[in-house]
Amino acid sequence: MNNPKILSPAMLKTYKQCRKKFFLRYVRNILMPQSAAQFERGKNIHAIAGYFLSGIDISRFELSLNDTEKSLWNKLKSNQYFQLTPVKTEFTLNVKLGSYWFGGRLDAIVKKNETEYFILDYKTGSAPDDAKYDYQTMVYISALSKYLKITEGLNFVYIDLKNNQNILIKSDEQLIAEYETRLIKTAEQIASLNENSLTKCKDNKKCEYSKICF
Ligand code: SF4
Repeated sequence: MNNPKILSPAMLKTYKQCRKKFFLRYVRNILMPQSAAQFERGKNIHAIAGYFLSGIDISRFELSLNDTEKSLWNKLKSNQYFQLTPVKTEFTLNVKLGSYWFGGRLDAIVKKNETEYFILDYKTGSAPDDAKYDYQTMVYISALSKYLKITEGLNFVYIDLKNNQNILIKSDEQLIAEYETRLIKTAEQIASLNENSLTKCKDNKKCEYSKICF
């Protein structure tokens, strides 16, 4: 099968959710429509946050936000982790673990000092239920660990703007090794995915692929 060359957290989450959906979306490359309002809101918050951390004047951009976006942006702007020193923003980072490539685009990396870094992820919807083992956490911590060549002092913060709370995951050498093992195992499963073994589920009312899933 023509599997994706670089596995992103979204791909890995889709695989965990449904192998058939992964096949339709990322092997057959069939893209189904998403909710435009939520997508736009997230896009605007990520854009203004990126400009702000890069030192760009955002006063005119702020005026163009609607009330919901303004409320989310004000929560992010006053967030404790958003006050730390920016290192990178909207940063694409890939890492090779075993024989497989993983990667994605980080919202921001900030630091408290030279030995304590925080990957920030802004959520205009809710944060993941199991944040410690979410694929986004595992891929980005593993990738940043290799990029910075450190295994201590790496943290991941989900900034949940909907519920105005932070979910902090602190990593260490042991946890990073566990992340790598888990990621490689999932990549191996994806590499051995057999189209003929994929069957349609029964409870598919909420699935955007139900109409074309066979
Ligand atoms: S309809 Fe069911 S099997 Fe098909 S892609 Fe959706 S969740 Fe997966």
